[in-house]
Amino acid sequence: MLPVLYMVIPCYNEQEVLPITCDLFLNELKKLVANGKISNKSRILFVNDGSKDYTWKIICDLSKKDEHYIGICQSRNRGHQNAVLAGLMEAKDKCDITISIDCDGQDDINAMDDMVDEYLNGCEIVYGVRSKRDTDTWFKRWTAESFYKLLNKMGAEVVFNHADYRLVSARVLKEFANFEEVNIFLRGMFPLVGFKSTSVYYERAERIAGESHYPLKKMLALAFDGITSLSVKPIRIITGFGSFVSVFSFIGIIWAILTHIFTNTVPGWASTTCIVCFVGGIQLISLGIIGEYIGKIYMETKKRPRYIISEKTFDDEQENK
Ligand code: UDP
Ligand code: MG
Repeated sequence: MLPVLYMVIPCYNEQEVLPITCDLFLNELKKLVANGKISNKSRILFVNDGSKDYTWKIICDLSKKDEHYIGICQSRNRGHQNAVLAGLMEAKDKCDITISIDCDGQDDINAMDDMVDEYLNGCEIVYGVRSKRDTDTWFKRWTAESFYKLLNKMGAEVVFNHADYRLVSARVLKEFANFEEVNIFLRGMFPLVGFKSTSVYYERAERIAGESHYPLKKMLALAFDGITSLSVKPIRIITGFGSFVSVFSFIGIIWAILTHIFTNTVPGWASTTCIVCFVGGIQLISLGIIGEYIGKIYMETKKRPRYIISEKTFDDEQENK
């Protein structure tokens, strides 16, 4: 049986680009079907992320024109990550594989061939990785690359230069559905699921039409979500800093007392300095410790599965008989 593929495509105010790229997606799907790699039951699933323009109408019209186009609509704009998640969750019970891709034609659609091949070779997750960033401005390239470096330093495992162009099998998505957190950062979360994965490389082009919806402000928000949703390292840094300041304060106290004894200081100077140093140090340590606890509670409230079984030496059904 050939696998059923669902392309999951988030769309937010994309009326300029969607009429152009929809054909590219359909052609790719038909090509994969013709090559005998995927089933003809495969679909292109558009997720309208509360667009304010004609995007949803375009999607509705497309679905009438060709059975391969289908769409879901979010009640309001929830952002790119939530739109992709909604599409993946919708698709997971209907297909064998999903490929999430932006609808602006920036990601090379032909890379899907390699992704599907990797899936057929046994990989459950295939990350689309940009081999070059020539088409980005130096500012975008610099901020994006610093973003990946910062994320990795902060303990979040992300595939370098991989955005949200990836193939994920339905099997992985069913496990992923157990990650119940609300603060989502998909590219950092999929590596946590495990399973056999690999990367395929492609060159990122410029947007075919329309404008980017990721200005610096949104990129910073995404970076912050990425770090805080995957790591408690920032809290540890505060604890470390608190300890450092305390040691420093202690030295400061000794110094203030000695200065008071051996030189003529203004009355009250030494005691004030001691208090400021001491209280500052204690406060930072306390904040760090409280933060450590909050960090633990934070990780707990996510209710992530504690382990995921990927293989068994027996067949569950036979075992249950
Ligand atoms: N997008 C979305 N909701 C949003 C913002 C963006 O669904 O609130 C979609 C958008 O339609 C596109 C993808 O996310 O398909 C990536 O957005 P964009 O191309 O604007 O980002 P960039 O490629 O510039 O980082
Ligand atoms: Mg884009």
